[in-house]
Amino acid sequence: MTAIADRRWDRADSALEPLLPLEQALERMLAGLEALEPERVALSEAHDRATAEALTALVTLPPWDNSAMDGFAVRAHDLANATAARPVTLPVVGEVAAGHPPPRAVDPGTAMRILTGAMLPPGADAVVPVEETDAPRGASLLPKRVRIRTSPEPGAFVRRAGSDLQAGAPLVARGTPLRSADLALLAASGHGTVLVHPRPALAVLSTGDELVQPGEPLSPGQIYDSNGVALAAQARWVGAEVSSVVTVGDQLDPLLDAVGRASREAHLLVVSGGVSVGAHDVVKEAFARIGSVDLWRVAVQPGKPLAFGHAVIDGRRLLLFGLPGNPVSSFVTFELFVRPVIRRLAGHADPLARITRSARLGEPVRKDPARRAFLRVMLEPDREDGLIARLAGAQGSHVLSALAAADGLAVVPEGVSSLEAGAQVEVWELEPRIR
Ligand code: AMP
Ligand code: MG
Repeated sequence: MTAIADRRWDRADSALEPLLPLEQALERMLAGLEALEPERVALSEAHDRATAEALTALVTLPPWDNSAMDGFAVRAHDLANATAARPVTLPVVGEVAAGHPPPRAVDPGTAMRILTGAMLPPGADAVVPVEETDAPRGASLLPKRVRIRTSPEPGAFVRRAGSDLQAGAPLVARGTPLRSADLALLAASGHGTVLVHPRPALAVLSTGDELVQPGEPLSPGQIYDSNGVALAAQARWVGAEVSSVVTVGDQLDPLLDAVGRASREAHLLVVSGGVSVGAHDVVKEAFARIGSVDLWRVAVQPGKPLAFGHAVIDGRRLLLFGLPGNPVSSFVTFELFVRPVIRRLAGHADPLARITRSARLGEPVRKDPARRAFLRVMLEPDREDGLIARLAGAQGSHVLSALAAADGLAVVPEGVSSLEAGAQVEVWELEPRIR
């Protein structure tokens, strides 16, 4: 059995208020929280941002019948008996290329050279690909006549008007992040701009006298600030813009300065470390000086305690998060709490949505029954069609190697103190290596 309980908090917090269920903590954070004021932007600025309006097609697609091939626009009836052995020769009465209207109609017994995407000329009802004729492929002079070796069905190689979309058809619901393909659809169907929500601006602040910038020399007692760089990357991954990443010690005054500076351009301030009940845990105090703040013990593992509050800076609302300093706790509590708040501000229809997988545990696990556990697991295919979740390493809240090896977080609910190998678990997918 693998023991994963982190007993330290249980001792430290036993005298504090009772554990808050995750859903209640999220409800309190999201209550009354509106998406940021939408703005109209060019499609080129809209990738991965959530729409603030439902979008419909402004034009029919294709707007007119057009050719799917380079070849000849014909009347199918004229070629009813054409075969390779007995080709039919038709006079070529002109050419129509993409971007140009047809110069004339195709009368009975004639053909018109046509290029892919060009309007089907009046009278024509089919296209014969150039490969089925004696005409040269590629750029060449317009032939006077063409020998056709095939008998097309009416409609052959014709892309019908409206076969993709009718004008007015729904394209994208409100609150949907726009992917590359959505942008193509919007552009093709007449949109040049779109109303989207801004990316929330997030400031990251790491606290601790022990912290040193990554890559600098270490003195005894010092460690690298790994939370700052991770939280900034996590924030960008969910669609925030990171306005600053700063490391500060454990004294209140420099912390207050840093909080003040970081707050100026941000919608969210995420501080890691200094939120428990230790002698140097001054984050709650700093938050209380600029706004209102609650210190919660949420029933999750890893992850408590958690500070959450609000301030109003220059008339703008700033959300305050104090995450635990342990690197795995800071990472996981970001996923649990900060991510949904970013998604709400960014206008996503369901701020809690994320990709989950169902897997069977590859080994037995034990945990604190009072809290929902988020185990760092690796996913592998099992012998059938499913997935096996194996612990990615030791589950202590300081073990970054297991976090970095993990594909996801396996969720083991409250009320459960152990699960056998083979038990079904939900796994929250983390940032994949292939995307
Ligand atoms: P704290 O929440 O400040 O009591 O910190 C808990 C643990 O996390 C301590 O071992 C800290 O050294 C460590 N820690 C705090 N902040 C960071 C950080 N930014 N990067 C890496 N470790 C940290
Ligand atoms: Mg600290």
